Amino acid sequence: MKDIVIIGAGIAGLACGDWLRKRGIKTQILEKSAGVAGRVATRRAQGTWLDHGLTYLQTGTDPRYNAFVKELLDCHVIQFWTESRFFLSVHGLANQLEDRPLFASPNGLNTIGKYLAQNQHINYKTKVTEIKIKDDRWQILTDQGEFRADILVMTPPAPQTKELLMAGLSDYPQIITPLEHIKFSSTMSLLAGYHNSRSVPSDWEVIECRDSKVLQHLFLIVQNRTILVVLLWFYTAQQNLQRNT
Ligand SMILES: Cc1cc2nc3c(=O)[nH]c(=O)nc-3n(C[C@H](O)[C@H](O)[C@H](O)COP(=O)(O)OP(=O)(O)OC[C@H]3O[C@@H](n4cnc5c(N)ncnc54)[C@H](O)[C@@H]3O)c2cc1C
Repeated sequence: MKDIVIIGAGIAGLACGDWLRKRGIKTQILEKSAGVAGRVATRRAQGTWLDHGLTYLQTGTDPRYNAFVKELLDCHVIQFWTESRFFLSVHGLANQLEDRPLFASPNGLNTIGKYLAQNQHINYKTKVTEIKIKDDRWQILTDQGEFRADILVMTPPAPQTKELLMAGLSDYPQIITPLEHIKFSSTMSLLAGYHNSRSVPSDWEVIECRDSKVLQHLFLIVQNRTILVVLLWFYTAQQNLQRNT
């Protein structure tokens, strides 16, 4: 059987490993951090969980994705959150009923990663530093030693993937050049908590800010009687941020 190495235990790497595992194909995942889920990031603070990456799930148009959302619901990894979303524009606040409900996780959305990671072979704290081709196989250099693979799956963000492949695959522009066209923007999340003896007078749970170049969403998440306001700032360039603050 061919050796398959997956770099990254974010949702993409875990979903790939899980799909192969269910078909009897073994993989090895190399993850630089001590945990799973990558940008689906949850932090524990003040006795509750704060999602500072992905904040909610909503079903989409792909039946395979919708089946996965249903599986997560059936296993109590996620639960119904709301089906009403507010929009803030220069005209004020308006409520809109969603055609598809929003789902959140009572223990933080990174439990989706933990769910997918079950029964998978993951090498934590293993940072890949360079990738080469040697004797028609992938040679993967890490801070924990060298790994070899017949098939390699890369899931770090495109700029990081490009850096890892640059030195060893400079003769393969068909791999490197498409990665150069994928641009990433900076994101900042602000999480503010309230003491659980207080109540926050609010009839909204999600506000999408339509006319702001800096503020994108406000989320009010009630977990374990602690009420959290999650603010997400998305800005496409540093100068955009400076212009708006
Ligand atoms: C604040 C925020 C809000 C978001 N909201 C939404 C949303 O509403 N809807 C939506 O669809 N998406 C949203 N996203 C995006 C979504 O979270 C990501 O697209 C998705 O989680 C990416 O998963 P991934 O597995 O592709 O990559 P990642 O999660 O980045 O996983 C890559 C993994 O590779 C590991 N890695 C990187 N380099 C190395 C290395 N050299 N060696 C070993 N391991 C390495 C990383 O540690 C990480 O675990 C949001 C993201 C953020 C940050």
